[in-house]
Amino acid sequence: MTEVDLIVDIHKNTDRQGPGSTEDTLRALQMLDLSSLASLKVADIGCGSGGQTLTLAKYLSADIIAIDLFPEFLEELNHRASQQNVNHKIKTIAQSMEHLPFNKEELDIIWSEGAIYNMGFEAGIKQWQTYLKPQGYLCVSEITWLTATRPQELEEYWTQAYPEIAKASDKIQILENNGYNLVGYFYLPESSWMEGYYKPLQNGFSSFLERQQHSDMANNMVKAFEDEINKYLKYKAYFSYGFYIAQKI
Ligand code: SAH
Repeated sequence: MTEVDLIVDIHKNTDRQGPGSTEDTLRALQMLDLSSLASLKVADIGCGSGGQTLTLAKYLSADIIAIDLFPEFLEELNHRASQQNVNHKIKTIAQSMEHLPFNKEELDIIWSEGAIYNMGFEAGIKQWQTYLKPQGYLCVSEITWLTATRPQELEEYWTQAYPEIAKASDKIQILENNGYNLVGYFYLPESSWMEGYYKPLQNGFSSFLERQQHSDMANNMVKAFEDEINKYLKYKAYFSYGFYIAQKI
C-alpha cells in the first residue's frame, strides 16, 4: 500500500472528497443562463465519487464527461449513477486534468469542485479556457481567504501547503486577466465542511483502520486528518472554499 492507495481508500466510500453540498452545487448552477441551449456538453473535472456530478445530471439536460485521476472513484460514481438512474447522462474517464481529451471550444460548461488546486488555479483556468465555447461557463471552487489579515500560524501553514491561496478579489482578478467575466461568487458555509465532508470522513475512520490493519501509515493519516479538522474548527473564520462562476469572453 502506497500513501496514494490509502488516500483513495479513506475517501472512496463517502459522497464527497472535499467540502461542498448539493445546495452549493445548485446555488452555483442557478447563476448560469442556459435558456438558449437545448443540449449541453459539460465536463466535471476532478469529479471524485461524483457528489456534484450526480446533482448536475439530475438538473441538466446534458452529456457530462466526469474526469478523475483515480479509477476507484469513477467506479463508485458509475455505481451511484446507475442506482440513481442518471448513468445515461454520465461518461467517466480516468485521466489527468492536465491532459484533457477535449477539442477547442467543445464544452458549454466546465465544472470543478475542490480539485483545480491539483494543477493550480491560474494554470487550470488558462488551460481549460481553450475547451470552452465563447460564452461558455467555468464553475470552480477553490480555497480562499475570507479576511484581509489572519493569524501568522495559519498564514504559514497555507503558504506552505498551497501558495496560491488568496482573497476572492485576487482570484477574480486572475479570471478577468485571463479572458473570463465573473458571473457570481459565494463562499461555502461551515456545514459544507463539517456535514458535507469532515463528519462523513470521520465516520469511516474506524473501518478504514480495520481494513488497513492499523498500519503506521494508516494511523498517521487519520491523525493528520484529525489535525486538519481541528485546524479548520479553530480558524474557520479566516478561510473557506470560494465558488467562482465565470463566463468565457
Ligand atoms: N469534486 C469532488 C472531489 C474533490 S477532491 C468533490 O468535491 O467531492 C479532488 C479530486 O481531484 C479527487 O477526486 C482526486 O482524485 C482528483 N485529482 C487529483 N489530482 C488529479 C489530477 N491530476 N487530475 C484529475 N483529477 C485529480
